[in-house]
Amino acid sequence: MTKPVIQLKSITKDYDLGKTIAHVLKGITMDIYPGEYVMLFGASGSGKSTLMNIIAGLENVSSGKIYVRGTDLSKLNHDEVAQYHRQKIGFVFQSFNLIRSLSVVDNVALPQMAAGIPKARRIKRAMALLEEVGLARFAHYLPTELSGGQQQRVAVARALVNNPWIILADEPTGNLDSEAANDIMDLIKQLNERGKRTIILITHNPDYIFFPHRVFYVKDGLVTKTIVNRAKYQYAEMGPQQKTFDLDALFSKHPDMPLRERQSYELTNVFYEVFKLDALSRGRLERLAHSIQDFLDDKKNELELADILDKPFKDGGVGLRKQLAKDIAKKTMFKKQEFIRTAGQAIKTPLSSNISIVDGEIVETKPASPAIDEELIKKPEDLPPIQENPKQ
Ligand code: ADP
Ligand code: MG
Repeated sequence: MTKPVIQLKSITKDYDLGKTIAHVLKGITMDIYPGEYVMLFGASGSGKSTLMNIIAGLENVSSGKIYVRGTDLSKLNHDEVAQYHRQKIGFVFQSFNLIRSLSVVDNVALPQMAAGIPKARRIKRAMALLEEVGLARFAHYLPTELSGGQQQRVAVARALVNNPWIILADEPTGNLDSEAANDIMDLIKQLNERGKRTIILITHNPDYIFFPHRVFYVKDGLVTKTIVNRAKYQYAEMGPQQKTFDLDALFSKHPDMPLRERQSYELTNVFYEVFKLDALSRGRLERLAHSIQDFLDDKKNELELADILDKPFKDGGVGLRKQLAKDIAKKTMFKKQEFIRTAGQAIKTPLSSNISIVDGEIVETKPASPAIDEELIKKPEDLPPIQENPKQ
């Protein structure tokens, strides 16, 4: 299992304002994994920048702990913290923070000075990064001769120059028009996807919440909600609930998904709960859902389903214990019969609403809706022929 690169444990931050104390962070706990792109999303004044400055080693916490690759930051002395900030963190600010009197390439090269790298190497590395962000031909311009979007690209190159583990970006698009902003968001996305950098980005623009792996909503010094972008591979270890299929997301993304396929995902989620399948990998869960779908589609019988569930994963199966495979196949059989009986209403009532789990067993509850109109589920050929000229 991957270890988090950053761990925050019950972080609080108070500012003593003389007469009063401002409680700016009120207990923030989060783990951020190597290669992850996370977003701190929230209104102005909610504490996002304070949190980021704490992660960067620029501010102390009032209470709580911050670990970086397992090292407690509070145990480092002043020089060690400075070194951490310089070498492991790359910072991008809303207002670019470039030095106006230095050329673009000198701005990018600057952070390497503290690391004692000779000038020729500093410039070589800075040029390579300018090449990467598409600005090599502006190397000898002054920052003010560039557009806002270009200046922010320079700032991104500068953030990368010491090859940091983590890029922190505090509202990096806040001073840009929307086109330049999208451009910077794409660049940051590439740094994460291709460069495998861990990214923590602050924004209050809701258009951006699909970029990262996870979004932490920050409100009044607390994380009030976390959103997981299930379209992306997740680095973070999820709780058992979150490893199941997100049916709302799945069904709204694929509105035309065939009924049997929907039911197979729903059933897989139910089995996951009932049989405590949290040890199953995502790949196995997918295969379980597909096998159930084959059964619902009459491509497999109950025995064949049990067989594929039992078969090792490497041989195309799900790799469940034999008895468990049999139990799941049997329950799927019962559900299938019920689906057929209630075909007319299956679309109206989601499966989950008439299944509940008591002591680890699936319990069927009566559908809340009125009994099914038999006529609805009969095939057209079963219906009595329409009498064209009923006898008077
Ligand atoms: P955000 O980045 O979400 O807009 P900040 O972290 O910058 O929020 O600020 C959160 C709150 O903390 C604000 O109310 C701000 O006024 C207060 N604050 C930030 N820094 C200080 C400070 N050095 N002294 C006192 N209050 C501060
Ligand atoms: Mg801020």
